Amino acid sequence: MDEKLKEIFNSAGIILNDLQAKQFTQYYDLLIEYNKMFNLTAITEPTEVFVKHFVDSALPYKTIVEGATVIDVGTGAGFPLIPLKIMRPDIKITLVDSLNKRVNFLNVVVEKLGFTNVKCIHSRAEDLANNVEYREKFDVCVARAVAKLNTLAELTLPFVKVDGVLLAYKSDVEAELVGASRALTILGGKLDKVLSFELPLGMGRRTIVVVNKVARSPNKYPRGQNKPKNNPL
Ligand code: SAM
Repeated sequence: MDEKLKEIFNSAGIILNDLQAKQFTQYYDLLIEYNKMFNLTAITEPTEVFVKHFVDSALPYKTIVEGATVIDVGTGAGFPLIPLKIMRPDIKITLVDSLNKRVNFLNVVVEKLGFTNVKCIHSRAEDLANNVEYREKFDVCVARAVAKLNTLAELTLPFVKVDGVLLAYKSDVEAELVGASRALTILGGKLDKVLSFELPLGMGRRTIVVVNKVARSPNKYPRGQNKPKNNPL
């Protein structure tokens, strides 16, 4: 399994060392073992998991600065931040999800993979972002498959320090970008660029929207009562 993983990462231009290959294998085994109990992923076939979850999540690992504090909002089974932590053991990570069973799974993964500098938190982003210990405290926020960009901006940018960055993983972003520019501006964000990647084995194209935090987010955001989703900025 480790060799197969290395080969697939190689075809995406990413070289795994032995420890990284072992950690991805352990993560895969846990995903499959706990999937029935915790409903973690619809994809279970090894090659598909390696490409669509692991490589996809790991793609921007070089863009994160040394020793950065990174938060993953709506991490689910740990995507994208567990693969990023495997690639970048120097980063300090916080994994957040509103479903407790997924957070329980993340605690198992963190223990088994022997990670340090990790927090797993059961909370809604709207609540946690209004906690002074977490508000505007992170160098980087990542999020994958959580919400449209206008909603996502409200759920994520309040966590990011001024001069920090949001990496929003998207499969098709063109339409969302236009609709999100107002939300980004209100929350202190400025679109920097859109990174584009081809997944190995013809498994699709991925984009990552890079948003710089250029001003503080007003205290009234994020709003409660599902407003970020039902009535986006
Ligand atoms: N990011 C993971 C991935 O790419 O596989 C999970 C994606 S899943 C479709 C969306 C996740 O976001 C779920 O685990 C859900 O519980 C979580 N979520 C949705 N809204 C949230 C919120 N407001 N605060 C925290 N977590 C949230």
